Amino acid sequence: MKNDYLHVAAYLPRSRANGPALRSVLWVQGCPFRCAGCFNPDFLPFAGGRVVAPKDVADWMLTESEAEGVSFSGGEPFAQAGALADVAERVHAAGKGVLVFTGYDAIELRSSRNPGFRRLLQAADLLVAGRYRSEIPGRHPLLASADQELMFLTERYRGADFGSRRRTEFRIAASGAITVSGFPDATWRLGANEATG
Ligand code: SF4
Repeated sequence: MKNDYLHVAAYLPRSRANGPALRSVLWVQGCPFRCAGCFNPDFLPFAGGRVVAPKDVADWMLTESEAEGVSFSGGEPFAQAGALADVAERVHAAGKGVLVFTGYDAIELRSSRNPGFRRLLQAADLLVAGRYRSEIPGRHPLLASADQELMFLTERYRGADFGSRRRTEFRIAASGAITVSGFPDATWRLGANEATG
């Protein structure tokens, strides 16, 4: 996988179910982890997805002037950290907040010598970090399982920004395809046309 390009699994220009306020959400293709009960099994193989230049992804996001920020999910965003850092730096420079959902935990992220990891950490405001463990559901609106943690990397967001309830969005396209996004109940398992974060 080239670092110059992103392998994009899905993109949602406007969502209120993947972080605070209105956000543009990017799901990347490929994850090195295999958490039991992962909501996005179609996004786990590294093969596949749409290949897009980081500048183009940033341009998509910058056209959404009402969106407060962007969220990166997957798949595993840090598996494409260099290219995503490029996107994050561009949208951050334009004033948008950056939230990353990652399966890596705080110790793994902070101890990594991968320069892409460091760039993405520097360009992000908030991380939801740690592998998903379906046997210990989380209570916080952004934590799918209880051993995940919020890493506030800047002062842009605070705990009060998240409300108290999880949000799930259902969208029906003209083609009839249903898109599920956010934090659906763990019993939801849909097909390749649906994106969940
Ligand atoms: S880290 Fe996230 S995307 Fe990867 S297997 Fe675990 S739940 Fe799925």
